[in-house]
Amino acid sequence: MSSALPEHGAPWSDLEARMQDLAKGDVKWRDGRTGMYIFNAGEDVARVKKAAYAMFSEENGLGPAAFPSLAQMEREVVAAGMSLLNAPPGAAGAMSSGGTDSIFLAVKTARDHARAKRGMTGALNIVAPSTVHPAFDKACMVMDIEIRRIPVKDYLADVTAMEAAIDAGTLMIVGSAPCFPFGLIDPIEALGELAERKKVWLHVDACVGAYIAPFVRMNGADLPPFDFAVPGVWSISGDLHKYGYASKGASTVFFRTEALREFMTFDAGPWPLGRMITPSLAGTRPGGAIAAAWAVMNHLGVAGYKQKQGEVVAARETIEAGVKRLGFQIFGKPQLGIVSFAHPDVDALRIYAQMHKRGWFTAALVEPRALHLMLSPKHNEVAGEYLADLEAALREVTDEQFAPRYAG
Ligand SMILES: *Cc1c(COP(=O)(O)O)cnc(C)c1O
Repeated sequence: MSSALPEHGAPWSDLEARMQDLAKGDVKWRDGRTGMYIFNAGEDVARVKKAAYAMFSEENGLGPAAFPSLAQMEREVVAAGMSLLNAPPGAAGAMSSGGTDSIFLAVKTARDHARAKRGMTGALNIVAPSTVHPAFDKACMVMDIEIRRIPVKDYLADVTAMEAAIDAGTLMIVGSAPCFPFGLIDPIEALGELAERKKVWLHVDACVGAYIAPFVRMNGADLPPFDFAVPGVWSISGDLHKYGYASKGASTVFFRTEALREFMTFDAGPWPLGRMITPSLAGTRPGGAIAAAWAVMNHLGVAGYKQKQGEVVAARETIEAGVKRLGFQIFGKPQLGIVSFAHPDVDALRIYAQMHKRGWFTAALVEPRALHLMLSPKHNEVAGEYLADLEAALREVTDEQFAPRYAG
């Protein structure tokens, strides 16, 4: 393959064929064979987001005055998110390009607020459970903040140990709703109480929970409080491109008050065009990602999300029952779309390799070793296939593991 730009261009029909050919090596996600990267809510939702993305693929969210359409859609998406997360009157938020972006923005906002309002001019740290997403480490690397990862207790944030790690330089404490590794909701109420007592910022990372948990609760599940209903929560990150089923490049970040959100603003320059004032880190922002998120939200509505998230929960329950029958043990009591499990007698990573051979592309945990699934509505259709393959994989690994070894 030549790496130079072709001298002459090719028509779309050629390119389309070549791209279809390239995609042949990709995982069969349309068949539900992925337990990561993809959130498959079906053809109908896919059609809506693609059409909406294409419709606004040239427009730029950097220019709200030029594109009041995008500004309006973003306001409506943010307002919908805030209503789902029990935001009080006066709360504020914004769209970003993804969970990592939203977490960066929350940390930056907390830092600038701490410097301006809390007199914190020295070295800063963030106290977080060990299960928190590495996006926090990245934010801390860039902003020269220390991250203190505190070992979890029963796979959940250990509030007592976190309290012991807080000092005068603690900018923020974090809880996840849920954490990615185990799919479990940290004790946000207890963290909120701690944050209020210590007068530190509590961020809830609901990147993978914000757009599923409210509907699972509406469907009748008894979820602990995890959002702005907890008084100590000052900011929340929630990804639209996960369980919001939006196109990739769409997340939200929310703050308890507009006064807090103001510290997110970048006022940069001047350069020859004067000052550049942006609400978030991005300059150019893809209109397509904003439009697709808006369209999917308005296409599904509360009833549509309740249905889709009900299917995710049903898939998880089927898989939980199946893996337990096979002797696996589940970490904690997941209530949303992520579940992790391991077998007491068999190395999870060897089973993982067997499942990979059978076409399943999922995440795995290395500490502790475990299989990990992030489920979509589509998995409700293929849970049986997954369990059948898992049974075969388990048998294969067990046979290998316990087969007598003959020397010579
Ligand atoms: C996915 C995820 C993130 C990061 O989001 P990206 O969109 O991949 O940048 C952060 N936190 C949690 C809990 C996540 O699941």
